[in-house]
Amino acid sequence: MIKFLDLQGQYRSIRSDIDRAIARVLDSAHFIGGPENAAFEQEFAAFQRVPYCVGVANATDGLEIAIEALGLPAESEILVPANSFIASSEAVTRAGHSVRFLDAESTTYNITAEGLRAAITPRTRAVVVVHLYGQPAQMTEISAVAAAHGIRVIEDAAQAHGAELDGIRVGGFGDVAVFSFYPGKNLGAYGDAGAITTTDAALATRARMIANHGRIAKYDHEFEGRNSRLDALQAAILRAKLPHLDGWIDRRNAVATAYLRELRGVGDLVLPEVRPNVRHSYHLFVVRSAKRDALAAHLKADGIETGIHYPVALPDLAAYAALGQKGQFVASANAAHLLSLPIGEHLTPDDASTVAASIRRFFAR
Ligand SMILES: *Cc1c(COP(=O)(O)O)cnc(C)c1O
Repeated sequence: MIKFLDLQGQYRSIRSDIDRAIARVLDSAHFIGGPENAAFEQEFAAFQRVPYCVGVANATDGLEIAIEALGLPAESEILVPANSFIASSEAVTRAGHSVRFLDAESTTYNITAEGLRAAITPRTRAVVVVHLYGQPAQMTEISAVAAAHGIRVIEDAAQAHGAELDGIRVGGFGDVAVFSFYPGKNLGAYGDAGAITTTDAALATRARMIANHGRIAKYDHEFEGRNSRLDALQAAILRAKLPHLDGWIDRRNAVATAYLRELRGVGDLVLPEVRPNVRHSYHLFVVRSAKRDALAAHLKADGIETGIHYPVALPDLAAYAALGQKGQFVASANAAHLLSLPIGEHLTPDDASTVAASIRRFFAR
């Protein structure tokens, strides 16, 4: 059995650290804010090598808060990649703006500077750049286009903790960035959790205030915000896991290297292209095949779990029917062919070889 995700195995491997972290919070009875949150924010900022980090309740809230903190005029047009999780676009609408989708490359699954330039209209005020599957988008070129057109950049780094571009970690390339600690992410809490990072001190303060009822001090509400704080229990759990994250990402890379070596030229498989100037965090290893459903069934019969990210491109969802962008994207055509192979710190290159052998048997039939 090759699992897609093994959170129980991960817990067993670091159980005493986790149990101690939880006990520390229960003993302190400091459940909201406090030292665990402050320490985690500092440690995660240091990990991403960015100056500011604000813990929030989840990355969907984080994106909404980050966009609100930019202070764009109401109803601004914000560009969002056609293939992502719905949170990337949902946050735009929830923050009072309008979504327009743009396509990503079929090779890296990220948007490009050229694609962005072509999609910008006079109404465009910002772009959400998703580092999809854990590979950083080419931010140097994207930021140059954004700057030339005076638009803001929000990095959706929900899948890209620890990922690097030209040796620099994601989270500080745009005006603001957002990370998810949903349990299945590369760094996962034991519930919902997220973080906003930025190099802009004022933006960090504004985001922190929005996430905490528009205040810094206890009853000093400067404006109406909301409640989207990171729980101290989750912060303590994340602190226990963070020292393992770089090693876990290295293990993911070892699995990916085996897949890339053993699956090249097999059947009609399209392997992901990895840019030479990145450290990929390999949240997901996504291939394409016209025989996707049969291949997934074959793997399942061999005891190998797979996933699909994402089965329907965002513009094709009922939620976005009113935008009238349905079926206009390469992402829409690709959606039926995407297959996520198992990857994670619970797997070894030998497991990847087992998966690759099963895939080769499928195409040899
Ligand atoms: C998981 C994810 C989110 C949302 O994260 P939550 O913490 O679950 O709200 C946003 N964007 C992308 C690309 C994601 O993968």
